[in-house]
Amino acid sequence: MSLSSNNVCFNCENLTASFSCKKHDLSVNLDNYCSDHNYKKSLNKTSNCGNCSKFKTDNCPNSNYASEGLLCFSWSL
Ligand code: SF4
Ligand code: SF4
Repeated sequence: MSLSSNNVCFNCENLTASFSCKKHDLSVNLDNYCSDHNYKKSLNKTSNCGNCSKFKTDNCPNSNYASEGLLCFSWSL
């Protein structure tokens, strides 16, 4: 068996923390996809607030609960 990844909203740069698409201003499901998908290459199983470039900055949309070990869809390198 070989594993593969799909280009879905879950791993798209345009997905926001409120499960909407910022490119299309649309509420989406994590397994939706469209031709404008932009792969969020850096998101992986070690991603968390502690290694997020937005941690403790004004760019973090969830600064009230952000802490080491937590994660949101706005995570970025
Ligand atoms: S651009 Fe497309 S794939 Fe990406 S979040 Fe929006 S609807 Fe989903
Ligand atoms: S809450 Fe999201 S954006 Fe904020 S530091 Fe954590 S992973 Fe990054």
